[in-house]
Amino acid sequence: MKLILFDIDGTILWTDGAGRKSMEAALMTVYGVSGDPAYRYDGKTDRQIVREQLRARGLTDLEIDAQLPALLDTYLENLAHVLASDPAAARLCTGIEVLLDAVEARDDTVLGLLTGNVALGAARKLGAVGIDFTRFRVGAFGSDHEQRPELPRVAQQRAREALGMELPGDRIVIIGDTPADIQCGRPIGARAIGVATGRYNVTDLAAHAPHAVFADLGDTERVLEAILA
Ligand SMILES: [Mg+2]
Repeated sequence: MKLILFDIDGTILWTDGAGRKSMEAALMTVYGVSGDPAYRYDGKTDRQIVREQLRARGLTDLEIDAQLPALLDTYLENLAHVLASDPAAARLCTGIEVLLDAVEARDDTVLGLLTGNVALGAARKLGAVGIDFTRFRVGAFGSDHEQRPELPRVAQQRAREALGMELPGDRIVIIGDTPADIQCGRPIGARAIGVATGRYNVTDLAAHAPHAVFADLGDTERVLEAILA
């Protein structure tokens, strides 16, 4: 049995800035500061985004942590509004629907998520493109830990608790669009597959030595081969 963990932004879907817009507005509402337009969100967890942006504006961790729950609540409210106000704001990445169906249908793979989104944000984004959040039987989220390299261990623990499965790292595959996705599974020996449907191209991702890298997930058979081989 293998656990296949999909990243969300840039891998399953693209929200065309809805996530960023919602977060920037929340930073202004709750902390009264604007984010840096040049700051990159991809590959980071929601709480990491908040902390890094606010530290750069001179806030202390004490000040940041005091309002973090309120910030995340405001962000989630904003996200619901932004996604609902523009149904075209989110779209699926190439090939992902067929691949998710294929992984879900097999009896030797378990469908899961590993994402920097807080769990409710993940559910909202997936809902915006018509993907049922409950299809993913194991999930590790930005609400579980602020650092992505801790999330593969969270996924292992969830698999143990929810499914009674003891999954060593070599039974876990992580699919994502950033170097952070490729690197985060190294501590447990997970296999990484890069996909260039986000802001990094195939060459960028290949430089981080994933097991395989694809321009998109359109060739279901080749991607499944890379997952299972
Ligand atoms: Mg991503």
